[in-house]
Amino acid sequence: MIIIKTARELAYMRDAGEITAETLHEMEKAVKPGVTTAELDAKAEDYICSRGAAPSFKGYCGFPASICASVNEQVVHGIPGIRKLRDGDIISIDVGAVINNFHGDAAITLPVGEIDAELARLLAVTRRALEIGIDQACVGKRLFDISHAIQQHVESNDLSVVRQFVGHGIGKTMHEAPQVPNFGEPGRGPRLQAGMTLAIEPMVNAGTWEVETEEDQWTVVTKDKKPSAHFEHTVAITEKGPEILTRLSGG
Ligand code: MG
Repeated sequence: MIIIKTARELAYMRDAGEITAETLHEMEKAVKPGVTTAELDAKAEDYICSRGAAPSFKGYCGFPASICASVNEQVVHGIPGIRKLRDGDIISIDVGAVINNFHGDAAITLPVGEIDAELARLLAVTRRALEIGIDQACVGKRLFDISHAIQQHVESNDLSVVRQFVGHGIGKTMHEAPQVPNFGEPGRGPRLQAGMTLAIEPMVNAGTWEVETEEDQWTVVTKDKKPSAHFEHTVAITEKGPEILTRLSGG
């Protein structure tokens, strides 16, 4: 069942979304060659707690950290650790914060130092795919209109969308109904209504869409070891159109 949020609940989700967005902004400032993913995780957790919120991911199904840090061919769910970022890497950082019992969830892929043109294009297409998907998050549209718009943009740029992992409803729990795939037929799925809140999150691969999970049981990597990017926002569907809850205010 898709849970429709009240105005008060949306206000709580705005708070969670703002803290999530600001945490990612802290990550943008911190990502550089030489920094470890564990250092980024500590910084994110400190920031979330300083705002009176708690990290959504820590302890979720046993996940040991506050961010997912996925480098290069890692798609999602990378565990922060001693790995040092290197010039030319890309890093996908996914973070969630919970306050007043409501969650925000967002992700961004950042360049580390100077990246090559193909990687820059992967990031640009994925970021744009998220925007294009969000544009479909309107009252009266169908859920897979979002999915289709994302897939269309990605595949028309000769990149691929991950199938095994998808976006999701979000609210009092981080993952609610419905699933929000990044592929599908337009005009299908539940009709979108005001008060629905969705985490829309294209995961885009440079090569094959196929992925596999590493031995740590968390880190998802592309099957062909080509790079992958991930952008995500928590979005509320309103009568006035999509409202991005994890957008940096003033940014
Ligand atoms: Mg998510």
